[in-house]
Amino acid sequence: KAKDEGKGQFHLYSDDIGEALEQRYRLESGLKQAIVANEFYLVFQPQVDLKTGEVIGFEALLRWLHDDELIPPGVFIEVAEETRLIETIGHWVLDRAIQEVKPWLIGDRVIAVNISPKQLQRSDFVRSVQIAIEQHGIKPTSLELEITETALLTDFENSAQKLAALQEMGVKIAIDDFGTGYSSLGRLKDLHVDKLKIDRSFVVSSDARNTNQKIIQATLSLAENLGLRVIAEGVETQEQVEMLQQMHCHQMQGYYFAKPVPAAEISGLDCFAEKQSIAPLSQ
Ligand code: C2E
Ligand code: MG
Ligand code: MG
Ligand code: MG
Repeated sequence: KAKDEGKGQFHLYSDDIGEALEQRYRLESGLKQAIVANEFYLVFQPQVDLKTGEVIGFEALLRWLHDDELIPPGVFIEVAEETRLIETIGHWVLDRAIQEVKPWLIGDRVIAVNISPKQLQRSDFVRSVQIAIEQHGIKPTSLELEITETALLTDFENSAQKLAALQEMGVKIAIDDFGTGYSSLGRLKDLHVDKLKIDRSFVVSSDARNTNQKIIQATLSLAENLGLRVIAEGVETQEQVEMLQQMHCHQMQGYYFAKPVPAAEISGLDCFAEKQSIAPLSQ
């Protein structure tokens, strides 16, 4: 293991594997300190109803500012999962996300939080979600957990049981990156989920490649048969919005509407400028 070889050894490597090991080591030790060092923060991206244009929720996305460098989740989440640091980090995210967005959680709006398979596998996961909800005094229906298809496949029976318990509490479940995980459609009906989140890859090139449009269409009819909602992620252009509206997709999220922003900047987003009805409650 890289860790056992000691820090001073790393300069000896000159090949790429060595560099990778060193980076890995720096990420790992950095991550261990990141919460106490206050290096994490959250940004929030609005989710929008495709019919009414109203903001129906926010997805919390984790950011790590380490040594003046913004390290993307695509890089550090994997390391955090392998080292199981994600269990602590993920709990921090859940707690913080609810706390920061709470003033915006009016009506049926949700705060959507990404959950790692490592978190879901913990035996105390359902209980910890319940505690977070109670501590912040939000409705369980205001919380949505985004879980990837692959996370569910890891330990299907166990995951299915937990999703059922969460849904029993009122918490909503969305399957993230839907379409990329090769999950068996047959098993979907055995899972307690509320929403399918169509992966960005199908949306981005859907105007260029007809097959992606067909995948979106198929997801929508599957969802209709199972009584699920569908949200499309990564929507960037007017053309994509119109296509999704024509296909009767329910919700969308993407740069076209708003980029993820810190909670303090939510009120300044364009999408809130027009309608008084979606202004936040003063606490
Ligand atoms: P995801 O959950 O599928 O999140 C969507 C990603 O797409 C986010 O990237 C978001 O910033 C980006 N995005 C949204 N709209 C657009 C758009 O219109 N165009 C483009 N090009 N991108 C868009 P981000 O924030 O870099 O996060 C990447 C992934 O990292 C997430 O994918 C999620 O899997 C993971 N992640 C982020 N935060 C957390 C967290 O708190 N916990 C866990 N376990 N995973 C997280
Ligand atoms: Mg997500
Ligand atoms: Mg996604
Ligand atoms: Mg994605």
